[in-house]
Amino acid sequence: MRDTCDMIVKDVQIVGGAGGGSVESDLSTILIRKGVIAEIRNGGTRNHGLQSDCRIVEGAGRKAIPGLIDVHVHLRDPGFPHKEDIESGCRAAAAGGYTTICCMPNTDPTIDTADVVRYIDRKGMAASPVRLFAVGAMTMGQRGTVAARIGEMHAADTRCRALTGHGIAGISEDGKSLLDEELMVTVLRTAKALGLPVMDHTEDSALAGGCINEGTVSRSLGVRGIPAEAETRIVERDIRLARETGARIHLQHISAARSVEAIRRAKEDLPGLTAETAPHYFSLTEDVVPRMGAAAKMNPPLRTERDRLAVIEGLADGTIDLIATDHAPHAAREKAQTLAEAPFGVPGLETGFAVSYSTLVIPGILTLRELIDRMSRRPAELIGLNGGRIEAGLPADIVIIEENEPFAIAGGRFASKGKITPFEGMTVRGRIICTICDGVLCYDCNQRACATPKEDL
Ligand SMILES: [Zn+2]
Repeated sequence: MRDTCDMIVKDVQIVGGAGGGSVESDLSTILIRKGVIAEIRNGGTRNHGLQSDCRIVEGAGRKAIPGLIDVHVHLRDPGFPHKEDIESGCRAAAAGGYTTICCMPNTDPTIDTADVVRYIDRKGMAASPVRLFAVGAMTMGQRGTVAARIGEMHAADTRCRALTGHGIAGISEDGKSLLDEELMVTVLRTAKALGLPVMDHTEDSALAGGCINEGTVSRSLGVRGIPAEAETRIVERDIRLARETGARIHLQHISAARSVEAIRRAKEDLPGLTAETAPHYFSLTEDVVPRMGAAAKMNPPLRTERDRLAVIEGLADGTIDLIATDHAPHAAREKAQTLAEAPFGVPGLETGFAVSYSTLVIPGILTLRELIDRMSRRPAELIGLNGGRIEAGLPADIVIIEENEPFAIAGGRFASKGKITPFEGMTVRGRIICTICDGVLCYDCNQRACATPKEDL
């Protein structure tokens, strides 16, 4: 028998498939045809007598997980191509195992009209098979005074629209909060009417203005701190506004214990509320700042061990629905400035999976299946994308991982232009071997080892 298909992933253990837990112990063969998972066969290839001249991805000793989905990245394009651009950002995504990413609107120009949304969509499609969805701003220029053209962005004819029904993945004022409550309510009502999630950066700028967490480390370094209250105040306000408007609020990059507690309580009667955190908030604390300097400067800042443990507990009990990276690259010379001067933000796409795997799965806090749920299935649900699973009939978004071999994170090897990482030198496990998006091999850690064309099975 001879099968016609474009790619085969052979002898792999599938995690995050349609089946139950038992399927994970079995070897499977995944047949990909025209970008879609055509068929999943149980058992290794030898049992099938398969023959094919299609591309072979070797899965023996490895696991296949659904393509990861990052609902929070900054690609700095348009406006800041020295920090990142759509091509380099999509390459970083593929290298990190991400097949869909959503980019935040704090670009120049701001993503506040359909024109900018279409620019991102066109450039993304030309750059990479990785799906790039734009997130629109809440207000024009993110100035907080006039609502952005949300309806126009929602109606934009984009790849996002073809796959989710919405021209943009959501709206966000990320980088700041919309403090004008009346305008915020207007924006929330618009989002609700269009069925868009509101990705909500929660920070009371009246309490911000510092550069790291306010506490013992900021005092010992003599720099101004940002209290956890800057976050929790707006978390509490926006939980109230979600109740009042019925809008779907998704709280971004939760970092503080009190925020986790507020979300846990709110979810008892507000099931539509969702929240994300980023790997640095559950793997690092402010204690690394004296050693790492501005490499560990991001907003919200790394907080205390108590906050870190609360974020982990929130991820374990479902209070925090998903993990996003808040990939926020800057040029090395910008991050080389002092703690007070350097910009906020660290790259995250190429460390997200391994750091999460090493911090959450190895110690037994989450199973690998649960981690995939938080990095793929739940993000897919948030943006209304039919994905996050390895299942016949779905787009072939498949990532091959290797779990056991430790490796050290080296920012100099990132595909991202942002190479200054707080994880520099950290030994982790959970390597991305290759990333298949829409049936296209868009990352291969070792060209020869991963994929060999025209091999007879
Ligand atoms: Zn943010």
